[in-house]
Amino acid sequence: MYNNFKEFLTKEIQDIRDAGLYKEERIIVSPQGAEITLESGKKVLNFCANNYLGLSNHPELVKAAKEGLDHHGYGMSSVRFICGTTDLHKKLEQKIAEFFGMEDTILYAAAFDANGGVFEPLLTEQDAIISDSLNHASIIDGVRLCKAQRFRYQSADMEDLETQLKAAKDARFKVIVTDGVFSMDGHVPNVKRMVELANQYDAMVMIDESHSAGVVGKTGRGVTELFDIRGQVELITGTLGKSFGGAIGGFTTGKKEIIEMLRQRSRPYLFSNSLPPMVVNAGIRMFEMMSETNELQDKLHANTDYFLGKMTEAGFDIRPTQSAICAVMLYDAKLSQDMAAKLLDEGIYVIGFYYPVVAKGQARIRVQLSAAHTREHLDKTINAFIKVGREMGVIK
Ligand SMILES: *Cc1c(COP(=O)(O)O)cnc(C)c1O
Repeated sequence: MYNNFKEFLTKEIQDIRDAGLYKEERIIVSPQGAEITLESGKKVLNFCANNYLGLSNHPELVKAAKEGLDHHGYGMSSVRFICGTTDLHKKLEQKIAEFFGMEDTILYAAAFDANGGVFEPLLTEQDAIISDSLNHASIIDGVRLCKAQRFRYQSADMEDLETQLKAAKDARFKVIVTDGVFSMDGHVPNVKRMVELANQYDAMVMIDESHSAGVVGKTGRGVTELFDIRGQVELITGTLGKSFGGAIGGFTTGKKEIIEMLRQRSRPYLFSNSLPPMVVNAGIRMFEMMSETNELQDKLHANTDYFLGKMTEAGFDIRPTQSAICAVMLYDAKLSQDMAAKLLDEGIYVIGFYYPVVAKGQARIRVQLSAAHTREHLDKTINAFIKVGREMGVIK
């Protein structure tokens, strides 16, 4: 039997290659950071990690992880409700709720699970989910697992959201769901308007802050800080795998009854292992650091402003962004790949994206800034962009 299946897969994989969509994985042999070493021994500046605050290999977090390992051991060998809950897990949940100005938090193995497990326990066919057209894959999958009616609005378009809210008016409960930052261009939707519409049409709001938490807002509290609506949404999901240390883990934070129900019925929580103590202890330390100082946010915001300013001045076409993501528009798929390859030759690691990851004709190089980048790193990258951009006729 496998022979037939093998043949089938071999052909499908070849089709992926022929379409130019095969995903290669580049091997890193150093810790994650502003500067990394590739398998070839080449050192490059990393401008494509979600390491926004530069915490992926931060000595304080490495130390806290080791302490967690020493005090609470390596693994939990249990789901939370059997014997997988430690004092550390409860403490981290409380820290996350405080950070976002919410009532309680539930941890998951990943944000993918948080989004996968949030809708199905809460909503039925009597209810409606109104979802942004560009929401993350994990939200789309979570919605699919739930029987609620589905409504989709044009990304970040608050007029279309209103139209969809009207269309959903007969539903018992309504939830609007959006990414806090759209990861392909760094754009933040107008969640202040969203909350107004939610109040007007009697809906709840859920924001996935995976790319925005730690980054957006003066102190990095996310899009609810940016729009001054802290505590005015019912649900926030997020990851510990990006700004917040970059290891692993996800969470849903929100109204306490919602979180209580998720602990009873959310399948990725009930039927999947508890986070290891070292990750949880490092998470606690991370949120303590966030409450002590905004130094990393300040640095990240300064780096982003500097980079955007210099790149715009050089003539690059940059998408409007309110986060640490900077989309350098090229509009041509091949150009995006060739330019990323030339930049790697210059020691700059960035990724070109094209259809179907972004819309047709919207190819780009996505640059992700970090608080770990120094002014020297930024200048080297800007100069490489200018050199390669001129060679390839992208700028004059
Ligand atoms: C990265 C990301 C996720 C997934 O996070 P993991 O913790 O790695 O599963 C979910 N939602 C959004 C918007 C993301 O950007």
